[in-house]
Amino acid sequence: MTYKFIPKYVKDIIPYPPGKPIEEVERELGIKNSVKIASNENPLGTSPRAILGIKKALKDLNRYPDGSAFYLKNKLSAIHGISPESIVIGNGSNELIELIIRTFIQPGDEAVISDPSFLIYSITVKASGGTSTIIKLKDDYSYDIKGILKAINKRTRLIFISNPNNPTGTILTRKDYEWLIKRVPGHVVIVDDAAYREFVQSGDYPDGIDFIRWKDRNLIVLRTFSKLYGLAGLRIGYGVTTPELAGYIERVRQPFNVNSLAQTAAIAALDDKAFIKKTLANNKAGLAYLYRMLDRMNISFIPTQTNFFLIRVAPFMSANQAFESLLRKGVIVRDMTSYGLGGYIRINVGTPSENRKFIKEFSEILKNRL
Ligand SMILES: *Cc1c(COP(=O)(O)O)cnc(C)c1O
Repeated sequence: MTYKFIPKYVKDIIPYPPGKPIEEVERELGIKNSVKIASNENPLGTSPRAILGIKKALKDLNRYPDGSAFYLKNKLSAIHGISPESIVIGNGSNELIELIIRTFIQPGDEAVISDPSFLIYSITVKASGGTSTIIKLKDDYSYDIKGILKAINKRTRLIFISNPNNPTGTILTRKDYEWLIKRVPGHVVIVDDAAYREFVQSGDYPDGIDFIRWKDRNLIVLRTFSKLYGLAGLRIGYGVTTPELAGYIERVRQPFNVNSLAQTAAIAALDDKAFIKKTLANNKAGLAYLYRMLDRMNISFIPTQTNFFLIRVAPFMSANQAFESLLRKGVIVRDMTSYGLGGYIRINVGTPSENRKFIKEFSEILKNRL
């Protein structure tokens, strides 16, 4: 029997291709000690302070979590100089993406999304019965802000900007950000997904939260504990916006959407200066090493403002061939075919030994191809 009543927009969704767990890959291929540099996770593990906090909070798991995330909101409020009422906490920033879409989009409404960018935006818009207008990045991988502005019509409710952008690692500069924000009409909300914000080294990067603080725009800035703080497995992120928009998103969420361990861990991780410093130093050094080695191999890549970047494997092989060959050697990378980038893989910076392993195995694969 087939079920005939499924909404067409649900049937049409192409599911998000998640990276495989290491254990599964090793079991399938009969290999050991493989490295995963496919999901932009923190290669140094989890903030030790967060782990300490989690251990203390374990004895209270019989209780529901604090549905208002009181302490975390207060802490974030102090850090960002913005009221707790302007902050929404989510079960990962992915949940916030979903809540925002459910809050602002009804069937027939539109979102403007760039391509290539984070795949979750268009999948989630589709799941709500909305449609996405896709605007290609320009040839230099920057956002086409004029194209984005032109795509806005009466039914447009959201613009998604991943800044820095996943998967290109490039940024929307402060100048372009201001240009766009000034011109977006009042019925459209900009979602600035700043998941990799802490890794940015460019002085041209705009902190979206400044714009909320000073300009009171229809803007929602998303941040996450999954990357810098090494808490991807716990699922926690937050959004900063105006109290009005935060209030609407709060109506749509589950009362206990963020678990108690995640809240405790996030509060502790924000204070873990040593872990933050170590992570950023590892990232900087790792990028310098990887760039140097790839240059030596005459392999081109897109310089990044994040902890990951795109490597061009064409014309030597396809992204899928690179992915499969590396997998067999115990290196898990991201095949970018599903992003429409069939000639690219994406890797994130690993530990120094993970980076060396990637370079060693990748050069061997290349040699065999030449
Ligand atoms: C990793 C990532 C996130 C983080 O999602 P969480 O749900 O907080 O783990 C958000 N946006 C982008 C573009 C990402 O790459």
